[in-house]
Amino acid sequence: MKLMSFAEGRWIEPQGRLTEIFSAVDGAPVGVCSSAGVDFAGMARYAREVGGPALRSMTFTERAEILKQLGLYLMERKEELYALSYRTGATRKDGWVDIEGGIGTLFAYASRGKRELPNERHLIDGEVEPLSKGGTFVGLHVLTPLKGVAVHINAFNFPCWGLLEKFAPTFLAGVPVITKPATATAYLAEKLVRMMIESGLLPEGSLQIIVGSTGDLLDHLTLQDVVSFTGSLETSIKLQANPNILRNAVKFIAERDSLNASILGPDAGPDTPEFDLYVKEVQREMTTKAGQKCTAIRRAIVPRKYADAVAEALKARLARVVVGNPEAEGVTMGALASHDQRQDVLTKIKLLSTEAEVVFGDPDNFEVVGADKEKGAFLPPVLLRCDDPWKASHVHDVEPFGPVATIVPYDTLEEAVRLANRGEGSLVASVFTYDPAVADELLFGTAAFHGRLVFIDRDCAKESTGHGSPLPHMIHGGPGRAGGGEEMGGLRGVKHYMQRTALQGSPARLGQLSRQWIRGGVEISTGAHPFTRPFDVLQLGETLHTAPRTVTLEDIEHFANFTGDTFYAHMDEAAAAANPFFPGRVAHGYLLLSFAAGLFVESAPGPVLANYGLDSLRFIKPVSPGDTIKVRLTVKSKKARREYGEVRWDVQITNQNDEPVANYDLLTMNAFSDGFPNPQG
Ligand code: NDP
Repeated sequence: MKLMSFAEGRWIEPQGRLTEIFSAVDGAPVGVCSSAGVDFAGMARYAREVGGPALRSMTFTERAEILKQLGLYLMERKEELYALSYRTGATRKDGWVDIEGGIGTLFAYASRGKRELPNERHLIDGEVEPLSKGGTFVGLHVLTPLKGVAVHINAFNFPCWGLLEKFAPTFLAGVPVITKPATATAYLAEKLVRMMIESGLLPEGSLQIIVGSTGDLLDHLTLQDVVSFTGSLETSIKLQANPNILRNAVKFIAERDSLNASILGPDAGPDTPEFDLYVKEVQREMTTKAGQKCTAIRRAIVPRKYADAVAEALKARLARVVVGNPEAEGVTMGALASHDQRQDVLTKIKLLSTEAEVVFGDPDNFEVVGADKEKGAFLPPVLLRCDDPWKASHVHDVEPFGPVATIVPYDTLEEAVRLANRGEGSLVASVFTYDPAVADELLFGTAAFHGRLVFIDRDCAKESTGHGSPLPHMIHGGPGRAGGGEEMGGLRGVKHYMQRTALQGSPARLGQLSRQWIRGGVEISTGAHPFTRPFDVLQLGETLHTAPRTVTLEDIEHFANFTGDTFYAHMDEAAAAANPFFPGRVAHGYLLLSFAAGLFVESAPGPVLANYGLDSLRFIKPVSPGDTIKVRLTVKSKKARREYGEVRWDVQITNQNDEPVANYDLLTMNAFSDGFPNPQG
């Protein structure tokens, strides 16, 4: 198989000195690759000049829809990926995480994009900031897509997931991608990119792939570009130190080595559900993907009093692991990705065994099912135990990227915290405890050193996604040794590929730019009640000022008795006056909201279909009997949903002195001129 790069809109055959890639299972050649002849500067230019403009001409909603369609398309063809995935040494279960887990991130970002992002090309970040006393000068933050290219450099262990979890948020942000898979498993990533291009769904220039070296690509990056890297500490340091990256302050997101810890609480003895869950999880993390997971548990930090019990229970579970050809019946752990990788892990086991004892697994003597032990890159699970973790350094420093973990005993919880943090920055740590005090101490002790903390106990175990699963909703990345980067985390992952800019100006100008009405902006009166105007004709800023209404003591008592809300502040003059916030009896906040609705609604049937909620409600000033309130109702923003139009109204209730007494956003579902549901939906 000749693995090709897809550059500047065409597939380029490998040429010059070719690198051979071999199957992890039987050592047979799988393909050859080389990126000689690829014009890397041309690729970057093409992404910026063709892919970027095409993506930026679309809204978030449009890009989200493409991600969804792409996910559906890839699901249809997933078996083609599984067929190749076995050659990487992955079992069907491992492949599921890589292939369907990867496609799952497309769906996750598609759905977030549709639900949480506007049908616009920019994103408002946060609330309007008042910057002047008179309200004529305000500020807000806006995010726009970078006008460059995202270079994604991936590790060998998850050729599909690694590519897609970076691609989905970048595409949603509106930035084209050049992806560079690790050579050892590039045949699977190349197949995936072929399928993505063949789908015909992606705008031209939005995705390119380099199979082989990235040549001088990094020398051509600018301030508008981003590098997102997953791999080893050494490579990350080398790439980050590229003078061009430094000079242009090119954003560099790194996700690299991590000595992840899993801590068993001192309360979680062998007779507790947490103990069993812990042993199961450590074994699972050691053997899933043959331990080649950036999030895998490398250090099992356990109370010294339970160290023997943990070791015995783990040994019993590990003895049931069947190593072999991932396609063979009964095999539960496949091969490592390559012979090089196997050799690297063996070297690291040797290093670790200078300060820890091997308690399970012998790399020179183990069974392999359905494959030749010498030809494939097989290893058995290897469990070590380091009884003096304070004298040890490799245990906290060296990442054996394979089915290897070390039991690290602790005497006090404070020690457990310091041991976990000796990893000097990790992607994830998990905690197995049912004791709130233990959980609390471990949170405050370790969170600053970890990108993710998972608390597993009897209450969540059944539904828990486990220690090692990065999820699109949660951030993936960690400080220090783990690279200091962050990926995914819902919309946070999209924002890495956008520039945040502070905007300042008048409410009218910033309202126009941010597609919303801002308090202090121009109020529009059409003469018609805004509730009589269908979604598509309603303009931002359309405003209704209501007639006034005086609130009487009878109103307050009537409301109190009718609803049962006879709270003393409304009913007992002396008790209310004793409350430092009230002058005496005051109207219920809910009474004011009801009166406001009574003042602003249009009673006859019309385009407003339903009130479906209030946001940002604040009662600012109490209303006493005899006060007179009135309401301003203004169209603040509009969002066309699939079935209806969502109108967000800025509502302000004021008193007879024009002082605001309540502010809130009201949300309504509105029909279109052509009726309901949304004719375009
Ligand atoms: P590497 O750091 O060697 O490679 C990672 C990626 O960087 C690959 O795509 C690689 O391409 C690329 N790369 C290497 N050198 C350059 C360069 N000069 N310019 C541009 N790209 C480059 O990591 P591996 O994937 O080989 O894994 C090695 C070790 O990294 C593992 O044994 C493990 O310890 C660690 N690792 C850590 C992970 C984590 O997230 N914690 C994940 C995966 C690995 P190519 O393959 O073509 O060299």
